[in-house]
Order: sequence, then C-alpha cells, then structure tokens
Amino acid sequence: MTVVPHAVCTFCGCTCDDIELHTEGARIVKARNACRLGESWFTHHTAEADYPEALIDGEPASLEAGVEAAADFLARADYPLIYGLSNLTCEAQRNAVELAESLGGVIDSHSSL
Ligand code: SF4
Repeated sequence: MTVVPHAVCTFCGCTCDDIELHTEGARIVKARNACRLGESWFTHHTAEADYPEALIDGEPASLEAGVEAAADFLARADYPLIYGLSNLTCEAQRNAVELAESLGGVIDSHSSL
C-alpha cells in the first residue's frame, strides 16, 4: 500500500488539499479527509483502461466514430444540454461553453445535483 499525503480533490470545485490517498496497485482504496463525494470520486477511478474509447448505441466504437456520432446527435438536437464538465481543464470548459453557444443549447455543471 502507498500513502500519498496532501492530495488535491478537484471534484466539486472546493479543491480540498488535505486529502490522504491510500493506494493498492492502480486503485485508490481510501481517501482520508475527503467528504462522501470526494471519497466516492477517488475510489471509483483507476488508471486501468476498463472501457472502450467510445460507445455507440451501447456497442464499442473507435474514438473517431464516437466523435462523429456525437456531432450528429448534437447537430440534430433541438435544445442540447452540455452537462458535467468536472475534471476538465479551463481550456476544455471554454470549448464546452463555445459549443453550447454555437448549438443554441444550455450548459450546466454536475454541482447542480
Ligand atoms: S468533493 Fe468533497 S473532498 Fe472533494 S473538493 Fe469537494 S468538498 Fe472537498
């Protein structure tokens, strides 16, 4: 087991910086000092690639095919919601806002839950 002190949680935007992470292999098994949201966020992420690059109608697909399908869905949507955005860089969030504006849609973050 490895213990990483003073880790920063970036889940909700509070950026708590006193998290102590306990790892076993590629998995985080404990996030001491994290709230319930932070604990869940840390312990349900892994460095292992468990999923395909994309899913189209539930079937594995290449990243390129996934991007094409997403663009098609968004282009046909009446009022698309760009949602989530946690764990994104500032540049990616800026692109998401531009995408929502260009589509005539709306944007929201996961914190509205
Ligand atoms: S999710 Fe919890 S631990 Fe993580 S930054 Fe927010 S308040 Fe802190």
